[in-house]
Amino acid sequence: MKIAVIGTGYVGLVTGVSLALLGHNVVCIGREKFKIEKINKGTSPFYEPGLDNLLKKVLTQKLLQATNNFQKAVSNSNIIIIAVGTPTIGNRIDLSAIKTISKQIGKELRNSSKYQVVVVKSTVVPSTTEKIIKPLLEKYSNKKIGEFGLCMSPEFLREGNAVKDATNPDRIVIGQIDEKSGILFSQAYEDVFCPKVFTNLTTAEMTKYAANSLFATLISYSNEIARICESIKDIDVVDVWKGVHLDSRLSSNTLREGQVPGIVHYIFSGCGYGGSCFPKDTKALLAYAKSIGVETPIIKGVIDVNSAQPERMVDILKKTLGNLKNKKIGILGLTFKAQTDDLRGSASISVIKSLIGQGAKVFCHDPSFDLAGDKRELYGLKINICKTIDETLRSSDGALLMTAWEEYTKIMPSLFKKLMKTPVLVDGRRIYSARTFLKAGVIYRGIGYSG
Ligand code: NAD
Repeated sequence: MKIAVIGTGYVGLVTGVSLALLGHNVVCIGREKFKIEKINKGTSPFYEPGLDNLLKKVLTQKLLQATNNFQKAVSNSNIIIIAVGTPTIGNRIDLSAIKTISKQIGKELRNSSKYQVVVVKSTVVPSTTEKIIKPLLEKYSNKKIGEFGLCMSPEFLREGNAVKDATNPDRIVIGQIDEKSGILFSQAYEDVFCPKVFTNLTTAEMTKYAANSLFATLISYSNEIARICESIKDIDVVDVWKGVHLDSRLSSNTLREGQVPGIVHYIFSGCGYGGSCFPKDTKALLAYAKSIGVETPIIKGVIDVNSAQPERMVDILKKTLGNLKNKKIGILGLTFKAQTDDLRGSASISVIKSLIGQGAKVFCHDPSFDLAGDKRELYGLKINICKTIDETLRSSDGALLMTAWEEYTKIMPSLFKKLMKTPVLVDGRRIYSARTFLKAGVIYRGIGYSG
């Protein structure tokens, strides 16, 4: 099949590569010339483990190419996938890119003599496809549904695991405006053996929000429990979760065999969720529910707990260090999670803003940053990017562990003791053993553990 994917971000490019791996002819449509050139040379414009290798493979097989020639790519395709960004503006979903693209696609459909299916992969609030995208497509194509098809198929990939998630999905949800649309789109995945859930457009849209909000809820719930633990002497939330996770309703017997079921990862305390999805999707769902007159106190609570969570890292640090003015603070990890270079919604950014606001000098390290060790600006923040962990920790008054990169898990307590002026460590991901670190002389604190 010939498939056009509009958007060359995390979802667009990964979707394009995974469809090309299935043998389809894929054209990824982007806007920025440098990104298109990079993709066509076999390098992803963002960091995603395993993606470059597969990209090179499908380029060599001539199954994928990137272009900014919208007209040619769309008119040649059987399936047109929309994978542009849907950020939030003032806590509501911003559909401007979706609207622009829908008009552009409509104009191309007008001249088309073949049946084509438009598929929305971007995350959009319920009824967007039916009430906004469909009318724009019909208006600009001067055609009616039936002359072209329309589906909504939400994407569930996780950054850092995107290639595996896209090539080996748990399920594919296919919201279809009519059967003909769903049948054609599902043919693109006929070689993928996972459950395919056929439903209507609105249910498909809601499924994505229900899934992301559930995971965000588990995280905020875990962080609320951590708050209680922080206020009680002799409780470490990590020990609490150990006892909870072993419940067979959560982890069956697999935990005992060393395999942790996915859900358990979300029932754990830390410095808060981030990224380009959970923060914006929970906010968009809250605003959408309000707009249709529905109160959602749980989702509101989830957002409130998460927004306050990064500041708790700073509070825990201050309890030990006192005033932060002119203190040198090392930050381990900038990205919102390990195995990605994505800084969107990262708790690190909020923490750094707060530290700088209180007069601290901030030294940061992140394995995904290949930058020189001098002063750089990050979202307008004046920080020092360090090339090594040693440089980050050396002579510092305190350190905050913000991202659970594997190389951080290997740091021994002796390194904090050796390099730091005062070995105060606040663990925002609870990757270290409190007992071992305290025994080794590190002043160890963390989310859910106040010493
Ligand atoms: P992204 O910001 O990485 O990429 C968006 C892409 O859209 C960019 O390449 C941008 O240039 C392009 N774009 C925007 N307007 C355009 C236009 N007018 N013409 C052509 N290209 C245009 O975003 P993303 O992370 O890939 O997310 C895309 C969608 O998928 C969002 O709705 C997001 O919520 C959803 N999603 C993201 C993830 C994730 O983990 N990143 C997972 C599931 C779903």
